[in-house]
Amino acid sequence: MSVLAAARPHLSITRLAAASVMPTGVRHVHRSSGDSVTVRARREQRLGVDPEKHMVQPVLDRAAQEMFFTEIIRTMWLVLEQMFKPPYTIMYPQEKGPLSPRFRGEHALRRYPTGEERCIACKLCEAICPAQAITIEAEPREDGSRRTTRYDIDMTKCIYCGFCQEACPVDAIVESQNFEFTTETREELLYNKEKLLANGDKWEAELARNLKADYLYR
Ligand code: SF4
Ligand code: SF4
Repeated sequence: MSVLAAARPHLSITRLAAASVMPTGVRHVHRSSGDSVTVRARREQRLGVDPEKHMVQPVLDRAAQEMFFTEIIRTMWLVLEQMFKPPYTIMYPQEKGPLSPRFRGEHALRRYPTGEERCIACKLCEAICPAQAITIEAEPREDGSRRTTRYDIDMTKCIYCGFCQEACPVDAIVESQNFEFTTETREELLYNKEKLLANGDKWEAELARNLKADYLYR
């Protein structure tokens, strides 16, 4: 830090940088009025600084800090406090931190307990998706029910906004708590219906529990 910074520690780095390039005692003559003021006075006017307070208060603060070692004592107290607290760090991936039931991770398509797909191919999720990551094709089945024949999500486009989950009237498409699905190729992130249904089957108990925990806010 420069000599100027050591002499005036109450000034911010930005202001010190400005002070170091502009000598503060230089007088500036206003073009129209012809008034002459120092550069420092103009800068303080512009920043709305009360010059007397600006000069006196930091000197008193510094004197108090130096006489009573307040900064050192505060720092030591902080260190002492932290020594008796559990550490913030965890040994990831062996240890994992808590996740909110609302966490939005990898997508899954759910089934009813009978094994029937929940999705009724209404396409609300496709319509609401701001990233246009969802592609759905559908046709009626022999029993008259409407189901998807294709349900793709391009996970490289997805921004994990959760709109698809919110729009779904039957809680079919959901975002799970899994965030560990990195891949080596882009193609592996183009999810199809089979992959999404397999995710749903794998995490059904957890997904149902999270939806139940969040029902008051939906
Ligand atoms: S989370 Fe958002 S961006 Fe991703 S598929 Fe759903 S609606 Fe689209
Ligand atoms: S996942 Fe839900 S919103 Fe999307 S098409 Fe199926 S039923 Fe409709």
